[in-house]
Amino acid sequence: MNSSIIETDAVIVGAGPCGLFQVFELGLQGIKAHVVDSMRVVGGQCAELYPDKPIYDIPGIPVLMAQELVDNLMEQIAPFEAEFHLGQEVTVVKPVDDEFDVETSAGTRFRTKTVFLAGGVGSFQPRRMRLEGIEAYEDKSLFYKVRDPKAFEGKSIAILGGGDSALDWVLELEPIVSSLTLVHRRVDYRGAPASVGKMKALVEAGKMRELIGKVTDYRTNDEGISGITVTTLDGDEEDVDCEALLVFWGLAPKLGPIAEWGLDLNRKTVNVDTEKFETNIPGIYAIGDINYYPGKKKLILSGFHEAALAAFAAKERLEPDKKAHLQYTTTSPLMHKRLGVED
Ligand SMILES: Cc1cc2nc3c(=O)[nH]c(=O)nc-3n(C[C@H](O)[C@H](O)[C@H](O)COP(=O)(O)OP(=O)(O)OC[C@H]3O[C@@H](n4cnc5c(N)ncnc54)[C@H](O)[C@@H]3O)c2cc1C
Repeated sequence: MNSSIIETDAVIVGAGPCGLFQVFELGLQGIKAHVVDSMRVVGGQCAELYPDKPIYDIPGIPVLMAQELVDNLMEQIAPFEAEFHLGQEVTVVKPVDDEFDVETSAGTRFRTKTVFLAGGVGSFQPRRMRLEGIEAYEDKSLFYKVRDPKAFEGKSIAILGGGDSALDWVLELEPIVSSLTLVHRRVDYRGAPASVGKMKALVEAGKMRELIGKVTDYRTNDEGISGITVTTLDGDEEDVDCEALLVFWGLAPKLGPIAEWGLDLNRKTVNVDTEKFETNIPGIYAIGDINYYPGKKKLILSGFHEAALAAFAAKERLEPDKKAHLQYTTTSPLMHKRLGVED
Protein backbone atom coordinates (compact mmCIF):
# COMPACT_ATOMS: atom_id res chain seq x y z
CA MET A 1 0.00 0.00 0.00
CA ASN A 2 1.16 3.56 -0.75
CA SER A 3 3.18 4.82 2.24
CA SER A 4 1.44 8.21 2.19
CA ILE A 5 -1.82 6.51 3.18
CA ILE A 6 -2.39 6.56 6.93
CA GLU A 7 -3.54 3.16 8.15
CA THR A 8 -5.71 3.33 11.24
CA ASP A 9 -8.53 1.70 13.18
CA ALA A 10 -10.77 4.77 13.35
CA VAL A 11 -11.33 8.07 11.58
CA ILE A 12 -13.68 10.58 13.18
CA VAL A 13 -15.25 13.11 10.81
CA GLY A 14 -15.87 16.24 12.88
CA ALA A 15 -14.20 17.67 15.98
CA GLY A 16 -17.32 19.10 17.63
CA PRO A 17 -18.05 18.12 21.25
CA CYS A 18 -19.38 14.71 20.18
CA GLY A 19 -16.45 13.92 17.88
CA LEU A 20 -14.08 14.87 20.72
CA PHE A 21 -15.89 12.64 23.19
CA GLN A 22 -15.79 9.84 20.60
CA VAL A 23 -11.99 10.00 20.92
CA PHE A 24 -12.42 9.41 24.65
CA GLU A 25 -14.79 6.46 24.35
CA LEU A 26 -12.65 4.85 21.65
CA GLY A 27 -9.59 5.44 23.81
CA LEU A 28 -11.18 3.56 26.70
CA GLN A 29 -11.63 0.65 24.28
CA GLY A 30 -7.96 0.86 23.34
CA ILE A 31 -8.70 2.28 19.88
CA LYS A 32 -6.66 5.23 18.63
CA ALA A 33 -8.39 7.71 16.34
CA HIS A 34 -7.61 10.30 13.70
CA VAL A 35 -9.92 13.31 13.76
CA VAL A 36 -10.61 15.51 10.72
CA ASP A 37 -12.45 18.82 10.75
CA SER A 38 -12.96 21.42 8.05
CA MET A 39 -12.56 24.10 10.72
CA ARG A 40 -9.12 25.20 11.86
CA VAL A 41 -10.17 24.94 15.49
CA VAL A 42 -11.80 22.11 17.40
CA GLY A 43 -15.17 22.43 19.14
CA GLY A 44 -17.73 22.54 16.30
CA GLN A 45 -20.77 24.67 17.05
CA CYS A 46 -19.61 25.34 20.63
CA ALA A 47 -16.41 27.00 19.41
CA GLU A 48 -17.79 28.53 16.25
CA LEU A 49 -21.25 29.76 17.21
CA TYR A 50 -21.38 30.36 20.97
CA PRO A 51 -17.97 30.03 22.70
CA ASP A 52 -18.80 32.54 25.43
CA LYS A 53 -22.36 31.41 26.15
CA PRO A 54 -23.17 29.28 29.19
CA ILE A 55 -24.35 25.65 28.93
CA TYR A 56 -26.44 24.37 31.84
CA ASP A 57 -27.24 20.79 30.82
CA ILE A 58 -23.95 18.93 30.90
CA PRO A 59 -24.48 16.27 33.60
CA GLY A 60 -22.58 17.00 36.79
CA ILE A 61 -21.48 20.48 35.69
CA PRO A 62 -24.06 23.08 36.75
CA VAL A 63 -22.78 25.67 34.28
CA LEU A 64 -19.81 26.22 31.98
CA MET A 65 -19.04 28.27 28.92
CA ALA A 66 -19.16 26.43 25.59
CA GLN A 67 -15.45 27.06 24.95
CA GLU A 68 -14.70 25.75 28.45
CA LEU A 69 -16.49 22.52 27.56
CA VAL A 70 -14.32 22.19 24.46
CA ASP A 71 -11.15 22.91 26.47
CA ASN A 72 -12.16 20.37 29.12
CA LEU A 73 -12.87 17.73 26.47
CA MET A 74 -9.44 18.33 24.93
CA GLU A 75 -7.88 17.82 28.37
CA GLN A 76 -9.96 14.70 28.99
CA ILE A 77 -8.96 13.07 25.68
CA ALA A 78 -5.27 14.03 25.88
CA PRO A 79 -4.17 10.57 27.15
CA PHE A 80 -5.41 8.96 23.96
CA GLU A 81 -3.16 10.99 21.65
CA ALA A 82 -5.61 11.31 18.80
CA GLU A 83 -4.14 12.90 15.70
CA PHE A 84 -5.96 15.98 14.45
CA HIS A 85 -6.17 17.01 10.80
CA LEU A 86 -7.78 20.45 10.91
CA GLY A 87 -8.73 22.88 8.18
CA GLN A 88 -9.59 20.04 5.80
CA GLU A 89 -12.91 18.60 4.81
CA VAL A 90 -13.47 14.87 4.44
CA THR A 91 -14.56 14.60 0.82
CA VAL A 92 -14.47 10.85 0.20
CA VAL A 93 -15.49 7.82 2.28
CA LYS A 94 -15.43 4.70 0.14
CA PRO A 95 -15.84 1.10 1.30
CA VAL A 96 -12.96 -1.13 0.15
CA ASP A 97 -13.31 -4.79 1.17
CA ASP A 98 -14.03 -4.62 4.89
CA GLU A 99 -12.36 -1.24 5.32
CA PHE A 100 -12.73 2.34 4.09
CA ASP A 101 -10.70 4.75 2.03
CA VAL A 102 -11.09 8.25 3.41
CA GLU A 103 -9.76 11.36 1.69
CA THR A 104 -9.72 15.02 2.62
CA SER A 105 -9.73 18.25 0.66
CA ALA A 106 -6.05 18.69 1.63
CA GLY A 107 -5.12 15.35 0.08
CA THR A 108 -4.72 13.46 3.37
CA ARG A 109 -5.62 9.81 2.81
CA PHE A 110 -6.54 7.11 5.27
CA ARG A 111 -7.27 3.40 5.10
CA THR A 112 -9.41 2.81 8.16
CA LYS A 113 -11.38 -0.04 9.66
CA THR A 114 -14.14 2.17 11.05
CA VAL A 115 -15.52 5.65 10.39
CA PHE A 116 -17.36 7.82 12.91
CA LEU A 117 -19.44 10.59 11.43
CA ALA A 118 -19.69 13.39 13.96
CA GLY A 119 -20.28 16.08 11.38
CA GLY A 120 -23.03 17.89 13.31
CA VAL A 121 -25.09 20.08 11.05
CA GLY A 122 -22.41 19.76 8.39
CA SER A 123 -19.13 21.39 7.68
CA PHE A 124 -18.96 25.12 8.15
CA GLN A 125 -18.47 27.00 4.91
CA PRO A 126 -18.09 30.73 4.39
CA ARG A 127 -21.32 32.48 3.37
CA ARG A 128 -20.63 33.36 -0.24
CA MET A 129 -21.62 36.29 -2.46
CA ARG A 130 -24.41 35.50 -4.86
CA LEU A 131 -23.77 38.04 -7.63
CA GLU A 132 -23.84 36.34 -11.00
CA GLY A 133 -20.51 34.95 -12.18
CA ILE A 134 -18.52 36.28 -9.21
CA GLU A 135 -17.54 32.75 -8.12
CA ALA A 136 -15.09 32.67 -11.04
CA TYR A 137 -12.92 35.20 -9.16
CA GLU A 138 -12.72 33.22 -5.92
CA ASP A 139 -9.17 32.97 -4.58
CA LYS A 140 -8.03 35.36 -7.36
CA SER A 141 -9.57 38.71 -6.44
CA LEU A 142 -12.45 37.52 -4.24
CA PHE A 143 -11.47 36.00 -0.89
CA TYR A 144 -13.36 34.41 1.99
CA LYS A 145 -10.24 33.97 4.10
CA VAL A 146 -6.82 35.56 4.25
CA ARG A 147 -3.98 33.12 3.79
CA ASP A 148 -1.18 35.67 3.50
CA PRO A 149 -1.85 39.32 4.44
CA LYS A 150 1.21 40.40 2.40
CA ALA A 151 -0.67 39.45 -0.77
CA PHE A 152 -2.73 42.65 -0.28
CA GLU A 153 0.22 45.01 0.26
CA GLY A 154 -0.18 48.22 -1.74
CA LYS A 155 -3.56 47.18 -3.15
CA SER A 156 -6.94 48.83 -3.01
CA ILE A 157 -9.31 46.53 -1.15
CA ALA A 158 -12.90 46.36 0.01
CA ILE A 159 -13.84 44.33 3.08
CA LEU A 160 -17.44 43.16 3.48
CA GLY A 161 -18.90 42.26 6.86
CA GLY A 162 -19.59 43.55 10.35
CA GLY A 163 -18.32 40.83 12.67
CA ASP A 164 -14.98 40.26 14.36
CA SER A 165 -13.29 38.73 11.31
CA ALA A 166 -14.15 41.71 9.10
CA LEU A 167 -13.06 44.22 11.74
CA ASP A 168 -9.88 42.35 12.67
CA TRP A 169 -8.79 42.28 9.03
CA VAL A 170 -9.67 45.96 8.60
CA LEU A 171 -7.35 46.80 11.47
CA GLU A 172 -4.58 44.47 10.34
CA LEU A 173 -4.63 45.35 6.64
CA GLU A 174 -5.28 49.10 6.80
CA PRO A 175 -1.62 50.00 7.41
CA ILE A 176 -0.36 48.04 4.38
CA VAL A 177 -3.01 48.56 1.68
CA SER A 178 -3.30 51.59 -0.61
CA SER A 179 -6.99 52.11 0.12
CA LEU A 180 -9.62 50.34 2.17
CA THR A 181 -13.41 50.48 2.19
CA LEU A 182 -15.47 48.57 4.73
CA VAL A 183 -19.00 47.72 3.60
CA HIS A 184 -21.52 46.51 6.17
CA ARG A 185 -25.22 45.93 5.69
CA ARG A 186 -26.31 47.48 8.99
CA VAL A 187 -25.35 50.47 11.11
CA ASP A 188 -24.73 48.16 14.11
CA TYR A 189 -21.68 45.92 14.19
CA ARG A 190 -21.51 42.44 15.69
CA GLY A 191 -17.78 42.67 16.36
CA ALA A 192 -16.07 43.68 19.60
CA PRO A 193 -16.88 47.31 20.54
CA ALA A 194 -13.16 48.08 20.93
CA SER A 195 -12.51 47.03 17.31
CA VAL A 196 -15.50 49.07 16.11
CA GLY A 197 -14.05 52.09 17.96
CA LYS A 198 -10.64 51.65 16.32
CA MET A 199 -12.22 51.30 12.88
CA LYS A 200 -14.32 54.46 13.38
CA ALA A 201 -11.18 56.34 14.43
CA LEU A 202 -9.46 55.31 11.19
CA VAL A 203 -12.48 56.56 9.22
CA GLU A 204 -12.37 59.90 11.08
CA ALA A 205 -8.66 60.20 10.38
CA GLY A 206 -9.42 59.76 6.67
CA LYS A 207 -7.41 56.53 6.47
CA MET A 208 -10.30 54.38 5.27
CA ARG A 209 -13.92 54.57 4.19
CA GLU A 210 -17.01 53.04 5.78
CA LEU A 211 -20.14 52.40 3.73
CA ILE A 212 -23.42 51.07 5.07
CA GLY A 213 -25.33 49.18 2.40
CA LYS A 214 -25.41 46.18 0.13
CA VAL A 215 -23.07 45.24 -2.69
CA THR A 216 -25.39 45.06 -5.68
CA ASP A 217 -22.92 44.80 -8.56
CA TYR A 218 -19.25 44.40 -9.44
CA ARG A 219 -16.93 45.34 -12.27
CA THR A 220 -13.99 43.50 -13.72
CA ASN A 221 -10.99 44.12 -15.95
CA ASP A 222 -8.24 41.84 -17.28
CA GLU A 223 -6.75 41.49 -13.81
CA GLY A 224 -9.97 40.42 -12.09
CA ILE A 225 -12.43 42.36 -9.95
CA SER A 226 -11.86 46.10 -10.31
CA GLY A 227 -14.74 47.57 -8.34
CA ILE A 228 -18.10 47.15 -6.67
CA THR A 229 -21.35 49.08 -6.53
CA VAL A 230 -22.80 49.60 -3.09
CA THR A 231 -26.46 50.50 -2.72
CA THR A 232 -26.71 52.46 0.52
CA LEU A 233 -29.62 52.37 2.96
CA ASP A 234 -30.96 55.56 1.27
CA GLY A 235 -30.99 53.79 -2.10
CA ASP A 236 -28.03 55.76 -3.49
CA GLU A 237 -25.44 53.90 -5.56
CA GLU A 238 -21.77 54.34 -4.68
CA ASP A 239 -18.97 52.98 -6.85
CA VAL A 240 -15.91 51.71 -5.03
CA ASP A 241 -12.69 50.83 -6.87
CA CYS A 242 -10.97 47.78 -5.46
CA GLU A 243 -8.51 45.22 -6.71
CA ALA A 244 -9.47 42.68 -4.06
CA LEU A 245 -12.72 41.92 -2.33
CA LEU A 246 -12.57 40.25 1.10
CA VAL A 247 -15.87 38.87 2.35
CA PHE A 248 -16.45 37.91 5.99
CA TRP A 249 -20.14 37.18 6.32
CA GLY A 250 -19.67 34.35 8.78
CA LEU A 251 -19.92 30.64 8.32
CA ALA A 252 -22.92 28.49 7.53
CA PRO A 253 -23.13 24.72 7.98
CA LYS A 254 -23.57 22.55 4.90
CA LEU A 255 -24.02 18.76 4.94
CA GLY A 256 -21.67 18.76 1.96
CA PRO A 257 -19.90 15.62 0.82
CA ILE A 258 -21.46 13.40 3.54
CA ALA A 259 -24.60 13.34 1.38
CA GLU A 260 -22.66 11.57 -1.39
CA TRP A 261 -21.35 8.51 0.44
CA GLY A 262 -24.28 6.14 -0.10
CA LEU A 263 -25.68 6.64 3.39
CA ASP A 264 -29.33 6.25 4.23
CA LEU A 265 -30.29 9.89 4.80
CA ASN A 266 -33.23 11.48 6.56
CA ARG A 267 -33.30 15.04 5.23
CA LYS A 268 -29.96 16.44 6.40
CA THR A 269 -29.26 13.67 8.90
CA VAL A 270 -28.09 10.06 8.71
CA ASN A 271 -30.29 7.20 9.90
CA VAL A 272 -28.74 4.98 12.56
CA ASP A 273 -29.87 2.18 14.85
CA THR A 274 -29.92 2.84 18.59
CA GLU A 275 -27.89 -0.21 19.60
CA LYS A 276 -24.65 0.62 17.80
CA PHE A 277 -25.42 4.00 16.22
CA GLU A 278 -24.36 2.37 13.00
CA THR A 279 -25.49 3.63 9.59
CA ASN A 280 -26.74 1.44 6.73
CA ILE A 281 -23.05 0.84 5.89
CA PRO A 282 -21.54 -1.53 8.50
CA GLY A 283 -18.44 0.02 10.04
CA ILE A 284 -19.68 3.60 9.57
CA TYR A 285 -21.22 5.01 12.73
CA ALA A 286 -22.92 8.39 13.13
CA ILE A 287 -23.20 10.27 16.42
CA GLY A 288 -24.25 13.71 17.62
CA ASP A 289 -26.35 16.19 15.66
CA ILE A 290 -25.77 14.42 12.36
CA ASN A 291 -27.68 11.24 13.18
CA TYR A 292 -31.37 10.46 13.26
CA TYR A 293 -33.41 7.82 15.06
CA PRO A 294 -36.92 7.98 16.52
CA GLY A 295 -36.84 10.26 19.54
CA LYS A 296 -33.51 11.89 18.61
CA LYS A 297 -32.77 15.15 20.42
CA LYS A 298 -29.90 17.31 19.21
CA LEU A 299 -28.26 17.71 22.60
CA ILE A 300 -24.61 17.32 23.54
CA LEU A 301 -25.44 14.77 26.24
CA SER A 302 -27.27 12.57 23.69
CA GLY A 303 -24.16 12.62 21.49
CA PHE A 304 -21.98 11.60 24.44
CA HIS A 305 -24.16 8.53 25.10
CA GLU A 306 -24.14 7.66 21.39
CA ALA A 307 -20.34 7.90 21.31
CA ALA A 308 -20.05 5.38 24.14
CA LEU A 309 -22.25 2.76 22.47
CA ALA A 310 -20.67 3.31 19.04
CA ALA A 311 -17.23 2.71 20.60
CA PHE A 312 -18.37 -0.62 22.11
CA ALA A 313 -19.78 -1.60 18.71
CA ALA A 314 -16.54 -0.66 16.94
CA LYS A 315 -14.51 -2.69 19.42
CA GLU A 316 -16.60 -5.76 18.61
CA ARG A 317 -16.20 -5.11 14.90
CA LEU A 318 -12.42 -4.83 15.24
CA GLU A 319 -12.16 -7.88 17.51
CA PRO A 320 -15.19 -10.03 16.63
CA ASP A 321 -14.03 -12.96 18.77
CA LYS A 322 -13.92 -10.95 21.97
CA LYS A 323 -16.86 -9.46 23.85
CA ALA A 324 -16.29 -5.80 24.75
CA HIS A 325 -17.03 -5.86 28.47
CA LEU A 326 -18.13 -2.83 30.40
CA GLN A 327 -15.42 -1.63 32.75
CA TYR A 328 -15.69 1.22 35.24
CA THR A 329 -13.12 3.99 34.98
CA THR A 330 -13.29 4.20 38.77
CA THR A 331 -11.98 0.73 39.46
CA SER A 332 -10.68 -0.98 36.30
CA PRO A 333 -6.86 -1.31 36.16
CA LEU A 334 -7.14 -1.63 32.35
CA MET A 335 -9.06 1.64 32.12
CA HIS A 336 -6.48 3.27 34.39
CA LYS A 337 -3.69 1.99 32.18
CA ARG A 338 -5.37 3.41 29.07
CA LEU A 339 -6.07 6.68 30.84
CA GLY A 340 -2.45 6.80 32.01
CA VAL A 341 -3.40 7.14 35.69
CA GLU A 342 -1.73 5.37 38.63
CA ASP A 343 -3.58 2.52 40.35
C1 LIG B 1 -26.47 28.94 20.19
C2 LIG B 1 -26.50 27.46 20.53
C3 LIG B 1 -26.66 27.07 21.84
C4 LIG B 1 -26.67 25.71 22.17
N1 LIG B 1 -26.84 25.35 23.48
C5 LIG B 1 -26.84 24.03 23.82
C6 LIG B 1 -27.02 23.62 25.17
O1 LIG B 1 -27.18 24.45 26.07
N2 LIG B 1 -27.00 22.29 25.45
C7 LIG B 1 -26.84 21.34 24.47
O2 LIG B 1 -26.82 20.15 24.79
N3 LIG B 1 -26.69 21.70 23.17
C8 LIG B 1 -26.70 23.01 22.83
N4 LIG B 1 -26.57 23.38 21.51
C9 LIG B 1 -26.45 22.32 20.49
C10 LIG B 1 -25.05 21.72 20.51
O3 LIG B 1 -24.08 22.75 20.27
C11 LIG B 1 -24.95 20.63 19.44
O4 LIG B 1 -25.85 19.61 19.81
C12 LIG B 1 -23.54 20.08 19.41
O5 LIG B 1 -22.60 21.06 19.01
C13 LIG B 1 -23.47 18.91 18.43
O6 LIG B 1 -22.16 18.43 18.46
P1 LIG B 1 -21.57 17.60 17.25
O7 LIG B 1 -20.17 17.23 17.69
O8 LIG B 1 -22.50 16.52 16.88
O9 LIG B 1 -21.54 18.58 16.00
P2 LIG B 1 -20.97 20.06 15.75
O10 LIG B 1 -20.76 20.79 17.01
O11 LIG B 1 -21.88 20.65 14.74
O12 LIG B 1 -19.56 19.79 15.09
C14 LIG B 1 -19.48 19.14 13.86
C15 LIG B 1 -18.13 19.39 13.24
O13 LIG B 1 -17.98 18.54 12.10
C16 LIG B 1 -17.30 19.23 11.09
N5 LIG B 1 -17.61 18.63 9.79
C17 LIG B 1 -18.82 18.39 9.23
N6 LIG B 1 -18.70 17.77 8.04
C18 LIG B 1 -17.37 17.60 7.84
C19 LIG B 1 -16.58 17.03 6.80
N7 LIG B 1 -17.13 16.49 5.70
N8 LIG B 1 -15.23 17.05 6.93
C20 LIG B 1 -14.63 17.59 8.03
N9 LIG B 1 -15.34 18.16 9.06
C21 LIG B 1 -16.67 18.14 8.95
C22 LIG B 1 -17.82 20.68 11.22
O14 LIG B 1 -16.89 21.60 10.67
C23 LIG B 1 -17.96 20.82 12.74
O15 LIG B 1 -16.80 21.39 13.32
C24 LIG B 1 -26.55 24.72 21.15
C25 LIG B 1 -26.38 25.12 19.82
C26 LIG B 1 -26.36 26.47 19.50
C27 LIG B 1 -26.18 26.87 18.07
